[in-house]
Amino acid sequence: MKTLQVELGDRSYPIFIGQGLMGNAELVKPYVKGQQVLIVTNTTVAPLYLEKCKAAFAEFNVKSVVLPDGENYKTLETLNLVFDELIGQRFDRSCTLVALGGGVIGDMTGFAAAAFQRGVNFIQMPTTLLSQVDSSVGGKTGVNHPLGKNMIGAFHQPECVVIDTETLNTLEDRQLSAGLAEVIKYGLIQDPEFFEWLEANIEKMLNREPEALSFAIERSCQDKADIVAKDEKEAGMRALFNLGHTFGHAIEAGMGYGNWLHGEGVSAGSMQAVYMSKLLGNLTQEDETRIQALFERAKLPVLPPSVDEMSNDKFLDLMAGDKKVQAGTVRLVLLKSIGKAYVTGDYPQEFLEQTLTNWR
Ligand code: NAD
Ligand code: MG
Repeated sequence: MKTLQVELGDRSYPIFIGQGLMGNAELVKPYVKGQQVLIVTNTTVAPLYLEKCKAAFAEFNVKSVVLPDGENYKTLETLNLVFDELIGQRFDRSCTLVALGGGVIGDMTGFAAAAFQRGVNFIQMPTTLLSQVDSSVGGKTGVNHPLGKNMIGAFHQPECVVIDTETLNTLEDRQLSAGLAEVIKYGLIQDPEFFEWLEANIEKMLNREPEALSFAIERSCQDKADIVAKDEKEAGMRALFNLGHTFGHAIEAGMGYGNWLHGEGVSAGSMQAVYMSKLLGNLTQEDETRIQALFERAKLPVLPPSVDEMSNDKFLDLMAGDKKVQAGTVRLVLLKSIGKAYVTGDYPQEFLEQTLTNWR
């Protein structure tokens, strides 16, 4: 087992990474505060892992709630099912919620924990590659609104993150690839050495070789933890994690949540950011080709939906609703080079329009 630490003063917490950690009662025991535990999961993950997870909390009063599966259920309405359980079963302020599932379950459970009685403890047990390398670390929680993704939420840090890499064995190939998009993102924004490692090892990850997966998960979590420690609430550099996300969120919302996976949107959206960075003279054609090749080898889309499926106007409209918008300017994460990203609202509008038109 590997242990990393997210350094946030008195809210610091460990990330445990290893094979078969889920059933480990001793590991999680110190992070359960009261006696009541509610495991939140969904209809896909419950038959696979709920019993095993429950066993780790057997000495507590443990209950579970099973939500419908899918990004289109990441809503306030679904969240109410968690509150119904908490309030109906008389959970008190000393309870602990456990998020057992991918990023959708993690974000919703975290938000429920932030809001229930103004804040209770929670533990992240991410079971997708995407949630293991990204969403379970850093304390961003929330739900979608029909007009925008993750528009309603809170910062709320978990007590610990338990990453059982064995859970990846049951994940669909398409979901594994979606997770790789966020892994590649870390290389692109701040870790050129990791980008090169990925170029050499991406097939090993697709083949789910445990050592390659473990290394990439550790490296991604470390990269994320370093920045979260410096900028918990995204006053500055944390925004770099949103490479490809302004374009990608527009794709996800524009095509209907759940049709494009989050990681797929991030992949195509990152390539749009790469193309625009090339227009601005930051990246060379060779850089673009190299980045595209890695996303393609990871079996990810590199082009956004066609103009017929999603017009430039629709793109611009959805991008204008992004959380990074300040005083009406769409701020974008762009690249200076492979391994160095920056946030800017200061670019010629025509370059954005050319990107939307030409990179299709
Ligand atoms: P997801 O939670 O929808 O999971 C993908 C699918 O895999 C689901 O059908 C799920 O039920 C299934 N699944 C989960 N674990 C499995 C397993 N071990 N075996 C088989 N199937 C399994 O999607 P995701 O990609 O994990 O997360 C995407 C979400 O995360 C988005 O809503 C995104 O906004 C959010 N996100 C949040 C942050 C953050 O910082 N909070 C960061 C990145 C992404
Ligand atoms: Mg993301």
